[in-house]
Amino acid sequence: MLEQFRQMLNDCIRIGLAENVTSLKSLSLKAYKQLSRYDVASYYKLCAISAATGILRNYRKAKRRNPYVKEPYARRLRLTTCYGFKVRDGGLLLPTDTKEHIWIPLISHVQAAIAGFMVRSVTLTEDRVSLAYAKDTEEVQPQGFIGIDRNLDNVTVAMSDALLKRFDLSEATQTKAIYRQVRSHFKRNDVRIRRLISGKYGRKQRERVQQILHHASKLIVEEAKAKQNGIAMEKLTGIRRLYRRGNWQGRWYRGRMNSWSYAELQRQIEYKAKWEGLPVIYVHPRGTSSKCSICGEDMKPEENRMLRCHSCGYAVDRDVNAAKNILAAGTLRFGAVGLAGEAMVAASATLRESAKSMRGS
Ligand SMILES: [Zn+2]
Repeated sequence: MLEQFRQMLNDCIRIGLAENVTSLKSLSLKAYKQLSRYDVASYYKLCAISAATGILRNYRKAKRRNPYVKEPYARRLRLTTCYGFKVRDGGLLLPTDTKEHIWIPLISHVQAAIAGFMVRSVTLTEDRVSLAYAKDTEEVQPQGFIGIDRNLDNVTVAMSDALLKRFDLSEATQTKAIYRQVRSHFKRNDVRIRRLISGKYGRKQRERVQQILHHASKLIVEEAKAKQNGIAMEKLTGIRRLYRRGNWQGRWYRGRMNSWSYAELQRQIEYKAKWEGLPVIYVHPRGTSSKCSICGEDMKPEENRMLRCHSCGYAVDRDVNAAKNILAAGTLRFGAVGLAGEAMVAASATLRESAKSMRGS
């Protein structure tokens, strides 16, 4: 069944390339008839066409950047369907072709997880079944916000009720550092050995880092849920440029800074928060680490990761200061969204103004 789907997908890709179409409608018109030789339920044909349009679009985008990019071809056995399946009697009923069905029993943990929710799609690979499920949530009117700042070894959280928390992620940093070291030893060796080692170590390392990030994101969202708080985080675009080659930090720092993925933590926090109906806001990172969270003036670094404001004299841990700035910017922006009349004013508001509004609250 998976092999048949792979062939259909490659047929669709070939037709799309030959006819130079990427839209779902035109590819359906060109390809659907040619899939008639496959004895499968019609929704699998539509799934193949839909998957092919995604692949063709990515290919077209990549080709604009690099004209020598290879033409796409599906090698992996993987099928995603939104139609035809049923969840019932503790299992998943999945049609294989126009006449046959298979029944995949679901363990009680999975049954409990999806109980009461709508299963939207099923993804099959050789050794895995994934169910995607959804629920309608109503967005909570937040009682406050929590601002999240990410650092080398931790995330620091500042909350509207003035509480501060720090989640230690140094193990994730170390795990990745060890992995990098192991990998570097194999650089000049045989490709097959390198693949084997980096495959095994790579998987272990990724799983461990995922575990650590899931633990932290879970605790953060639980805290937000208990307080009915929204979440404010840094917008990632631009900030990453800070840690690129050519900046003053040097390779070691850059490597460490990128060593646990903030993007992955953000992704986890966002979907876990949305599941609970908690609003998530992204703020521009400009000034969050250098401006005073009380008065908005420039801060001077002191020893032990402390900062002091030369204007108001406020002395604070620099991670805490950044988290407070993110919190203030998020709170301000949510106010702008919540009160449409003030949106125009807030859109032009600077970090400095947001820091002031925090002092007033
Ligand atoms: Zn100040």
